[in-house]
Amino acid sequence: MYRVLCDRCGAADDGCDYYAWATPDQAVDVAVSDGEWLRIIEGESGEERLYCPSCTTWDEEADELVPLTDLAVHAEGD
Ligand SMILES: [Zn+2]
Repeated sequence: MYRVLCDRCGAADDGCDYYAWATPDQAVDVAVSDGEWLRIIEGESGEERLYCPSCTTWDEEADELVPLTDLAVHAEGD
């Protein structure tokens, strides 16, 4: 039984944990197709990263879901 975990905050997809997904791929596909979870494929490594609804925001300009930036890192900027 599988469910998805957020790569940013570690939250689980509790909304779906009553489902018993047979494979990790299936759990991810359902979470992403719900439109709440965001799947990013890293260009260079091909690594897949998942972001829960709390870790994504709507980018008005790009007209798409984007992961929240890391506030701690930004605070160390200028
Ligand atoms: Zn998260």
